[in-house]
Amino acid sequence: MKITGIEISHHRLPLDPPFHASWDTQPRVAFDATIVRVTTDEGLVGIGSGDTMTGFAGHERFFVGQDPLAIERHYRILTNIQFHYGRCWPLDLALWDLAGKITGQPVWKLLGGLSDRIPAYASSGTLRQPEALADAAEAYLARGFKALKIRFHRGDWRADIKALEAVRGRIGNRLELMVDCNQGWRMSWDAYAPWTLKEAVPVARELERLGVYWMEEPLHRADREGMRRLREMVDIRIAGGEMTRELSEFRDLIRDGCLDVLQPDAALVGGITGLRRVAVMAQENNVLFTPHTWTNGMGVVANCHLTAGLCDAPFVEFPYDPPEWSTKRRDFMMATPLEVDADGMIVLSGAPGLGYALDEAVLAKTRIG
Ligand SMILES: [Mg+2]
Repeated sequence: MKITGIEISHHRLPLDPPFHASWDTQPRVAFDATIVRVTTDEGLVGIGSGDTMTGFAGHERFFVGQDPLAIERHYRILTNIQFHYGRCWPLDLALWDLAGKITGQPVWKLLGGLSDRIPAYASSGTLRQPEALADAAEAYLARGFKALKIRFHRGDWRADIKALEAVRGRIGNRLELMVDCNQGWRMSWDAYAPWTLKEAVPVARELERLGVYWMEEPLHRADREGMRRLREMVDIRIAGGEMTRELSEFRDLIRDGCLDVLQPDAALVGGITGLRRVAVMAQENNVLFTPHTWTNGMGVVANCHLTAGLCDAPFVEFPYDPPEWSTKRRDFMMATPLEVDADGMIVLSGAPGLGYALDEAVLAKTRIG
C-alpha cells in the first residue's frame, strides 16, 4: 500500500456567544479546526486533527508514494518539519488512524492494548464566581465525573482560592480537584509576566490545605530550577509541559526532578509516535503521564487512545465547561461528539483506527480554506 495524497482543509465555527477562556485575554469569537486526510492507493483514508498544520504546504511530496505503515520514518520527517517550519502533528494522528484501518485494529490496541477506557477529569475553561463554580461542580458530579480541574486567573490568587474553597465546601471530597495556574506560556498577544517561585509557593500551600490533586503550570515552562525547588518545598504534585515543544525537554524535565505530572498533547507535540516514548519514559521514572487535550474532540480521542492503551494514568483531560464550552462546540467536526459514560469514563471504540467519523455536512458549511 502507498500514500497517494495528503489533503488539508480548514474550518471555522463561529462562537456566539463568545468563549472567554481563562488563560486568554481576548474573547474567542470563533473556533478553528484543521482536518488532515491521508489517502492511499487501496482506498483507505486516515484522518487527524487538533492543530493548524502551519508550515506543511509543499511538504506533501515527502510522504506521497511511501508505505503508510513506515510510521517511524514519517515521524522523523515531521520532526524535521517542526524544526524548520511548524507543528504538523495531526498528520501523525492521521497515520495512526490509517494504521488501525490497515490492520483492522483500534489504535489503543496497537499501542499496547492495556485498556479501552480511562477515567476523565472535567477540564473547565472559564472563571466563575465562587457560588456559581460550586454549582458547576455539583453538576459535574451529577454527570458522573470523579475529578474536576478549575482555573486560576482572576488577577488576585486570593480570589482564586475563595472560588476553590467554595467548591471544596460544597462537594467535600466527592471530587478530586486539580488547579491550573496557566503560567507556563502566553497567547501571542499577551505580554504579562508569569509567576515567580516566591509567588507560587503561598498558592501551592493553600492548594495543599484544600487537598488539591495537582497544581498545574505554577511557573514558566523554562523555569526548571523554580519547578524543582517548588517540588522540594511542598508536597502537592506539580504538573506541566502541555506546550513544551521538544521531546528532549521532557527527558530533561524528568532528569532534573521538575515535575510529578507530564502533560504533552499528541496533537501539538510529537504526535502519538513521539509521545509514546515520553509516556514510557515517564512511567519508568515514576512520573505521571496524562496529556493536555484542549484542542478538539479528535485531539481528545487520539490522546485517550495513547493513554488508555499504554499507561496507568489516573485521569485524562476532557475539555468541558457547559454552557460556554459544550461537547457540541468542541467536537463540531465529528459525526458523534465524544462523551463520558455515567461513571465519568471515556470508553474508546473497538473500530479500526481512532474510531471517530467526520460530519461532512458541517465541514462543508464551516470550510474557510
Ligand atoms: Mg493546562
